[in-house]
Formats: sequence, C-alpha cells, structure tokens
Amino acid sequence: MGILAPLSDFGRGLIELIYPNVCWICRRSLGPEEASPCGSCEGALCTDPHVTCPRCASTVGPYAASSEGCVHCANEKLHFDAAFRLGPYDGLLRDAILRMKYGKDEVLAEVLGEMWARSLATRLNPCPDVIVPVPLHWTRSWKRGFNQSEVLARSLARRLKLPCHGRILRRCRRTPQQAGIQSPTARRDNVRNAFALRPTSNLSGKIVLLVDDVLTTGATANEAARTLRHLQPAQIIVAVLAHDRAR
Ligand SMILES: [Zn+2]
Ligand SMILES: [Zn+2]
Repeated sequence: MGILAPLSDFGRGLIELIYPNVCWICRRSLGPEEASPCGSCEGALCTDPHVTCPRCASTVGPYAASSEGCVHCANEKLHFDAAFRLGPYDGLLRDAILRMKYGKDEVLAEVLGEMWARSLATRLNPCPDVIVPVPLHWTRSWKRGFNQSEVLARSLARRLKLPCHGRILRRCRRTPQQAGIQSPTARRDNVRNAFALRPTSNLSGKIVLLVDDVLTTGATANEAARTLRHLQPAQIIVAVLAHDRAR
C-alpha cells in the first residue's frame, strides 16, 4: 500500500465536512438522498455515444470493429487483450479529467473512480483478479502531489473488491510528456523501456486490469502491458477513463 490511500480517505472526509452535499462535477447542491456525482452528471459522463473497438477502444463506425480489431489497431502489435473506456475525451468527461490532473484535484479522482467502478462492474466479464495502475515517474507524481491513475485504480479496486498492485510497475525513465509528441512512432519510441518490474512481483495466470486516465495512441498502455507480460498473466485488459484518438 502506498501513502495515497490514507491521504485520500482523509481528503474525502475533509471534503464531506466542507461541502456536505454537493455534486463534485457540477457543484450543484444535492438533496439528502443524492450522492455525488448527481444523476445528470453521472448519466452524461457514463454514456458513450459511439461504438468502440473491443481491442483498442477507438471510436469506430457501426460494424467496423471485431475481436480482430479496427482500422486503427488491426496492424498494431498490442500487448493487451482488450480495452474499455468510459467515454471519448470530450465534453464533460474531458473537463473533469483536466480538472483532476491539472487542478490537482485528488478528490475528483476518487469520485470519478467510484462512478467508473459502477459502470465497469457490468462490463467486465470475466472479472479481473488484480488492478494495476500505469505509474508516473516519481518526479512527476511528486510535482502533482498524486498519480491520478493510481487514485483511480485504488478507487476502482475498493468498489470492485479487488486487490490493487500499485507497486508492481515502476516508471524507470522520466520521458517527455506524450501530449507534446504527435506521431505514433515517436510516441512509441518515447516510452520504450520506460517501465520496470519490481522484484518479486507475481501475476502468473492472473487477469490484470491495467488502469490509466487517458489513452491516445495507446503507446504508453501498450509498453506497460509489454512489461507486465514478463510476469505471464493470463490476460491484460486496459481500462481508461477517456479515449483521445480524434478519428
Ligand atoms: Zn452534477
Ligand atoms: Zn481497434
């Protein structure tokens, strides 16, 4: 366990004290029976208006994807078996992710994680055995104060009653941020060998849910999955809050 879980519980307790019943997305006051996020925000955040590829979670046209993949991933060597997203990276979901990351809003990460768990619980079949967040380099999580993927993963794990192994993967290289790199090949090169496994890690025969906040070309998740493959898990399923491939 890292130090994030107790801090998160503390943060949440504090927020409940300061804002007794407010939607953490739209800030609307809630009735005594309502929980954050409010029904209308949760409906908007959890409704994906598009058909998605089961292999890479890209938006695709109707009937354009199969288990073999879609136009975006059919020729890609993916080290994960499937990918789920909560939605596309736009509108309210994009605003919430930007606020979570750049507003350093750890409580929002918790709120989103709990809501995401409700949506994922109905879609994950078979159920994973373990949740692994995509790590940030320590200098980056130190600067932000938390790793949003780890807070999301722990929140998911709590709700789905699964173990969260936040220390299996380590980011051993501080890479330039993928957001500033355009071409898929350059993004792939940027994260090559960026991850390492902690000694004594064991995922043999397990179904792993690999959690990240945003997936763009998938290079980071794919490199993390490639590293995890050394531990011979049965399956690696990627779960991202939002998919940012603008096609
Ligand atoms: Zn709301
Ligand atoms: Zn695809």
